[in-house]
Amino acid sequence: GGTPVKKATSLADMLKEATTFLLRGSNIKPEFEIPENLWLVDADEGQLAQVINNLVINAKQAMPNGGKLNIKAYNYFYDGRSDLPLKRGRYVCFLVEDHGVGIDEKSLQRIFDPYFTTKKTGTGLGLAVTFSIIKKHSGYITAQSKVGQGTTFYVYLPASDKKA
Ligand code: ADP
Ligand code: MG
Repeated sequence: GGTPVKKATSLADMLKEATTFLLRGSNIKPEFEIPENLWLVDADEGQLAQVINNLVINAKQAMPNGGKLNIKAYNYFYDGRSDLPLKRGRYVCFLVEDHGVGIDEKSLQRIFDPYFTTKKTGTGLGLAVTFSIIKKHSGYITAQSKVGQGTTFYVYLPASDKKA
């Protein structure tokens, strides 16, 4: 929470470090597809870490029997011509793609609502906080899912003017 204190941040490094740490000793193998030339993002590092944690922990919980977790990122120029709720400009998009239990269509509409949870001891706050952090960064987050196949979260964050 709070007003983000933004600086040029390597999302590539944060994704690799946080994910590797969170999955250490588990039966989930992260697989990274992140280009060398990925732009830096203008972000609050603490809040960005919270976003990555929330998405990776959810993915981990969705794969109780283990499996592969794909983390992908790419540079993206949004020309304003499709219907993303973003301003025209440079973004970094990253994907957290699990092969877990998936989310049914009805639940998928509510996952970003505060206190929506399907877990016995869940708070239902992880994705609500994540959504608000991304919004405060002028970014966008969305999810696609198929029950029994898995879930992919897509996050767009404005790129920094600084070079990686
Ligand atoms: P919590 O993890 O405490 O339940 P979240 O806000 O992080 O709260 O997630 C809300 C709900 O969205 C979860 O309870 C679950 O139903 C669903 N969800 C989120 N991420 C995933 C995922 N990767 N796979 C399956 N379901 C998910
Ligand atoms: Mg959660």
